[in-house]
Amino acid sequence: MTTDVLIQVTELQKHFKGTQQSQDDKIRALDGVSAQIHRGEVVVVIGPSGSGKSTFLRCLNLLELPTGGQILFDGADITDKNCNINLHRQKMGMVFQHFNLFPHMTILKNMTIAPMQLLHKSKEDAEKTALELLSRVGLADRANAYPSQLSGGQKQRVAIVRALAMQPEVMLFDEPTSALDPELTGEVLNVMKKLADKKMTMLVVTHEIAFAKEVASHVIFMDGGYIIEQGSPNDVLENPKNERTVKFLERVLR
Ligand code: ADP
Ligand code: MG
Repeated sequence: MTTDVLIQVTELQKHFKGTQQSQDDKIRALDGVSAQIHRGEVVVVIGPSGSGKSTFLRCLNLLELPTGGQILFDGADITDKNCNINLHRQKMGMVFQHFNLFPHMTILKNMTIAPMQLLHKSKEDAEKTALELLSRVGLADRANAYPSQLSGGQKQRVAIVRALAMQPEVMLFDEPTSALDPELTGEVLNVMKKLADKKMTMLVVTHEIAFAKEVASHVIFMDGGYIIEQGSPNDVLENPKNERTVKFLERVLR
């Protein structure tokens, strides 16, 4: 692994206002999270529901503004008020549980609209790249279909290559297979494995422990807004030290 740090997170906090009026009524979604993501690394984030995993990813691409701490991306402080948020977001592809494809546009149009508008690519150029990416995931023949004509697994494969069409430096995945029927998760995980083989930097929130064991270079276990334990898959998944990690793994592997 290289020692080239792409993202450096230090004491990251995200507090939401609670529903009560009192001062100390805060939801501490993240309460001091520190981590490093190196170029070419696959970091898998695991943890129970409500532990702050999505908030962590959303802070990294500024869908949520952190309330404390620092995020350095390629050395630049993205929490600084002078940061160009849109330019920063272009460097991070994000894939959610729900595919977020534009329903009224064909697959090809879904794939080309952002590269044309934001990267100022020509239509021909954007379509050529889109078709290459679609064929990489076995979907070139569906370019003129609409999202509603695709299965969940196919839609998620499109969502992944649509993000790749923006040539991001890192891909963020938030439970990309959680909304899929079990028989469709494999095809999506395979696309992600291929990306990892190509040394794409990836941060993946997932409950797929077998995938984490096979693909992750680093595993983070979160609970209650904190990182409880992090390290190699062997350390965290095979030899967890913290009682909460042990209990969580028992639950998801049962
Ligand atoms: P996870 O993805 O691990 O399930 P989340 O990051 O979604 O956890 O949520 C962490 C905590 O922050 C939860 O208690 C959740 O209810 C709370 N939270 C998340 N988003 C908001 C929001 N927009 N407003 C208030 N509370 C939120
Ligand atoms: Mg979540």
